[in-house]
Amino acid sequence: MATISKSEFRIAVLPGDGIGQEVVSAALHLLEVLRAKIPGIELDLVPLEAGAALYRETGTALADETLATIEKCDAVFLGAMGLPDVRRPDGRELAPQLDLRFHFNLYAGIRPIRTIPGAPVPLADPRAKDIDFVIIRESTEGLFADLDGGTVIDDEQGRDTLIITREVSTKLFKTSFDLTARRKRQGRPGRLTCIDKANVLKSMAFFRSIFDECARDYAEIDIGYEYVDAAALNFIRKPWDYDVCVTENMYGDILSDLGAGLIGGMGMAPSADIGDNMAVFQPAHGSAPDIVGQGKANPVATILSLAMMLEWLGEQIGSTPYLDGSRAICQAVDDAFRPGALRPVEMGGTHGTQDITSAVVQALKVR
Ligand code: ATP
Repeated sequence: MATISKSEFRIAVLPGDGIGQEVVSAALHLLEVLRAKIPGIELDLVPLEAGAALYRETGTALADETLATIEKCDAVFLGAMGLPDVRRPDGRELAPQLDLRFHFNLYAGIRPIRTIPGAPVPLADPRAKDIDFVIIRESTEGLFADLDGGTVIDDEQGRDTLIITREVSTKLFKTSFDLTARRKRQGRPGRLTCIDKANVLKSMAFFRSIFDECARDYAEIDIGYEYVDAAALNFIRKPWDYDVCVTENMYGDILSDLGAGLIGGMGMAPSADIGDNMAVFQPAHGSAPDIVGQGKANPVATILSLAMMLEWLGEQIGSTPYLDGSRAICQAVDDAFRPGALRPVEMGGTHGTQDITSAVVQALKVR
């Protein structure tokens, strides 16, 4: 971490592609209001360009100089990257956000799934208002470890390899148990579920055995196991029963979109990708080219990712203003939605980026 001084952080801001620009500018507007309200949040914001649109213009999605600048920052605040019509010669989409995960070893993908009070949710069961769990998705190996190593053999067969290592899994599980313990101290059940496919894949049985080894150091945490197919079913049947789940990279990729669906849509789901010395905060959604430039993007996921960043920074140095700032943002989002009148376009309503940002800003101001 390249902290400038004890309480000041340098943040790389990468709005990226599509609606990334729109939701990042909404969140930065809220940050300005927050900083006027809570003194002591000292952020040096460094705007940087990266993404598929940049690749289309220059042939590079994430330049070496940009990466070098990011290395001198404490954290990254990112919008969204990738555009379906901009592809590498082998047909895959550009994803510099994944390059960042690999470059900085951001192994723990934290995906909170929490119903915002007053926001509409797709499940009819009244307990859907109590959904509050976290998916921790390993983000550097698993089935995506082979990002550049998959092969297509003689036009007849394609292969990718699922990689699980003891080193990364141990760190992932330690992060997961620590987070579960922290939530338990805040009144949550303190239960960690390992989601895998240990009944079929040897790599996944290995993953589970490392989970069991780590569990021995956390006697106060309740542990459970689920196969990924059963988890997909139970996420719909009883999502309110989960506390923290930890899983392999691709299972986590799929399950976190399912989780976002449970709380109303991609625009409600924040995320953080955390490593030993660096973290990237971004909404769980992509660049959503279908709605770009129409003012329809829901900024809540990005705003809540900003809150996650302030919390993470605050914890690094034990700083009250950052932790207070994080809480104030989450409370302002809740206050804005609680009366039940705010309906984002993605949930069938009429409120777009501007309306939702103004409502959250207003709620922050009056708190
Ligand atoms: P990726 O493939 O990188 O995950 P994508 O842009 O193809 O990204 P998502 O971002 O996952 O797909 O979006 C899926 C759907 O959700 C799209 O139809 C998009 O319009 C909608 N969506 C995503 N983010 C938002 C948002 N912030 N507000 C409103 N709708 C959104």
